[in-house]
This record gives sequence, structure tokens and C-alpha cells, in this order.
Amino acid sequence: MFSYIDGNVRRLLEEKGKIRTVEGRDGVRLSVLGPIPMPVLDKQSGQERILGWYLFVRRTELEEVDRISRELRVGRPDDLLHLLTSYMAVNSLLVHGQLQGRSDVLVRVHSCCMTGDVFGSMRCECGPQLQEAYHRIFQEEAGAVVYMASHEGRGIGLWAKGVTYLLQDMGQDTYQANESLGLPADSRDFSDAAVILAHFLDEGASVRLLSNNPMKVEHLERGGVKVSERIPIVSGVCHHNIRYLHAKQSRGHTFGDDELPED
Ligand SMILES: [Zn+2]
Repeated sequence: MFSYIDGNVRRLLEEKGKIRTVEGRDGVRLSVLGPIPMPVLDKQSGQERILGWYLFVRRTELEEVDRISRELRVGRPDDLLHLLTSYMAVNSLLVHGQLQGRSDVLVRVHSCCMTGDVFGSMRCECGPQLQEAYHRIFQEEAGAVVYMASHEGRGIGLWAKGVTYLLQDMGQDTYQANESLGLPADSRDFSDAAVILAHFLDEGASVRLLSNNPMKVEHLERGGVKVSERIPIVSGVCHHNIRYLHAKQSRGHTFGDDELPED
């Protein structure tokens, strides 16, 4: 694997234990790179923390890139660069503290949202949720965020998500808009998050999951990660996203004791 990286670089990373393969109980294999120290700012407290950043990708996807890269080796490097940047869904694990030796670890499994997480859009509450998750995890001795890279627009990608925003502005809700494009209302799969968490946690250790979404609990438990508690995370609610949140509620999301404001 990783033959597209210089062989000497690969050996160096292997020697340092920075690249390895992790296998899930259903035979899924992930390639994991890291940890890479990542300083982040807890915006709520103003404190800096150093997270351990791990990148992980399905071995099957990597092997396909590897195969194509061998065929392309005689071709133009631009072709390979295109593949590396577009083909693989590279997910991330961000670890605070030491996960080993603990149970009931506080975890957020977060679906990537460029508009909310990066642009600061208030059409959804993803950005404030991620910041709130960091803040709560930093109150603990250890915790983790799993960031799922291929989940934009609940799995339909950024381009289609843009189209669904236009459809929502014409009156459809966030799920109807996906379906109008002939795409699933929600095609996200959190099973790789289960594989990576099961690897980093002690055998049998449970997590407390920061989430409003029961589907995430199902996927983690199916993958062998016990969820001792689901903790609703309500943050960034405003008039720009209240209709969106009511649509989520109608599809099974729960927001704890706090009632959502009326649409
Ligand atoms: Zn979002």
C-alpha cells in the first residue's frame, strides 16, 4: 500500500508507527496515519489544546488508488494528483488526552459540512455543534471527535447540496430536497467510525455520544462500540435553521429536554 509515496518515506513512517492497518470485526480494513499534533483553540474558554490527529481511509479505496497509480506511473503526475485529491474519502479522528484505560469516553461523530463548519453558514447548526463538542470534550480528561469526510449534504456531496438549498428556498424540506434529486434523504454510513473507535478504545469500553441522531448510535453499536449514553447537543439554533431542525426532528432526531423554538 501507499506505493505512491516514496518507499523511503513509507518505511520511515512505518518505523515510527505512524502508518498502520486497523481491522474491524466485519473484516473492514482501514489504513490509519498519525498521530499528528494539532493545536486547536477552544473558542468558548479561550484555551489552547493539543489534539492527536489521525487520518483514516478504507483499504479497499486505497488499494484501488494504488492500482490505478501503478498504471499511471508512466503517465503524467497530474493524473495521479487528481486521483489522490478526488477519489478517497479521508476521515479524521481527533483525540484529546489518553483514550486507553477509560470507559464512557465522550465522543462526537461529526459529518463534514463545508458550509457550516468552514463558511460559518447558519443554514444548519453544524459549526456551533462542532465547537460545542470540542468545548465539552475539553472539560474531560479524554475524548474524541470523529470527522466523516464523505458526508457532505448527508452523503450527496457539495454540488447536490447547493441544489437542495435552492429547492429548500422554494419550499421543500431538507429531506424532500435530497429525494427530489433522486438521491437518498440520508445515505450516511458511520460504520468506519465504529471501526476506528473500537481500535482506539479498550476492549469493551463504552462511549457517551454527543448527538441528536439515533442512527449514529445504531451504526456504532452494530460496529461493536457500546454507547452508554446519547447526549443531545443543541447549539447554534437560530431563525435561519429552525425549519431545518424541525425537519430533522420529524425524522427521529431528538434534542433533549429543551423544546425547539417554534418555526
Ligand atoms: Zn451543516
